[in-house]
Amino acid sequence: MATTIYQQPDAQGYYGKFGGAYIPEMLHPNVEELRKQYRSIITSKDFKDEYQALLRDYVGRPTPLYFASRLSDQYNTNIYLKREDLCHTGSHKLNNALGQILLAQRLGKKRIIAETGAGQHGVATATVCALKGIECIVYMGEKDIQRQAPNVARMKMLGATVIPAVSGSKTLKDATNEAIRDWINNPIDTHYIIGSVVGPHPYPDMVASFQSVISEEIRKQLKDKTGSELPTHVLACVGGGSNAAGAFYHFTEEQSVKLVAVEAAGHGVDSGMSAATTRLGKPGVLHGSKSLVMQTEDGQVVEPHSISAGLDYPGIGPLHANLFDSGRGTFLSATDEEAVRAAFNLTQLEGIIPALESSHALAGLNQVAFKKDDVVVLCLSGRGDKDMATYMQAMGV
Ligand SMILES: *Cc1c(COP(=O)(O)O)cnc(C)c1O
Repeated sequence: MATTIYQQPDAQGYYGKFGGAYIPEMLHPNVEELRKQYRSIITSKDFKDEYQALLRDYVGRPTPLYFASRLSDQYNTNIYLKREDLCHTGSHKLNNALGQILLAQRLGKKRIIAETGAGQHGVATATVCALKGIECIVYMGEKDIQRQAPNVARMKMLGATVIPAVSGSKTLKDATNEAIRDWINNPIDTHYIIGSVVGPHPYPDMVASFQSVISEEIRKQLKDKTGSELPTHVLACVGGGSNAAGAFYHFTEEQSVKLVAVEAAGHGVDSGMSAATTRLGKPGVLHGSKSLVMQTEDGQVVEPHSISAGLDYPGIGPLHANLFDSGRGTFLSATDEEAVRAAFNLTQLEGIIPALESSHALAGLNQVAFKKDDVVVLCLSGRGDKDMATYMQAMGV
């Protein structure tokens, strides 16, 4: 256990007390097939060659590590932005969707299903399915379909079938339930592409592995720019936790690097309208793994709230639950209002319009006391085009 205490789970998929595979009997064959095969496939030369070529030529990697000089002046320190916003389709999500489609192909799958909330993961999945000519079905809550019309249109243009989830609150967790039902009914030919470091083992490890390219690049780029591979701080926002897992991955065992995760506090941690899972959650099982979950006394999952749809999730990946529980990671939270203010601040200082999710990480800068020669890397997980309606509202236009 010496070198991978935080980075990788044990053989049963546990990060400390969290993780595992809590699934209905009928899903066992699907999840077992994945568990047995994913490591050998994703570490094979054939897989790595194709994945790396597509990361470079299709996704646009390596993404730049940009020294934000005016933002650095404001905080009187040195801030580098990892520009995941410059990935094809506008966020880090494609790193994972691409890895999983190449895996699905090698498993002989002919049909892809996915769940999506805001539609960002649905778009990434529909994109890689178009790239590979594979059928794509995306489950999406009926309410989200109405709220996220441009992303629904993108998915359809990419050739995906978007199926509304009409049960419960008609949002992400209901779409997830529908996707799981589909997978149970189609165990042989279908692969389920989960969009974050959540779900039953091996998904959290698989998705973290695909996103780990983020910190692999940061180490090299930082060495070129500063002479050292190690920053003093890495900041990222956390919904399920995939961009944070990717940004932290190659630093988790480096004790000198502070790992700072920022959750969505919505209207405020104690307002009853937030998604600050580590502040409010208790151990529980959600979507196939044991983690921290926002729930009532009798274990009902609480409906979360965040202005950013990508952080609007009542759980957190088991890797992060362990970073929190062990004290290795620092978990902060930012409100809707603080995130919007941070988005305008970055835009006006650096000419970069960030996604609302990433703006939570930016708001987190206000809560850390930096020294003048600290080296801070912030994962700018996505671009703000999709959030213009919210930004326009904030400007009163
Ligand atoms: C989906 C999304 C997130 C949140 O997901 P994680 O798995 O926590 O990374 C963050 N930023 C952007 C831009 C997203 O699209």
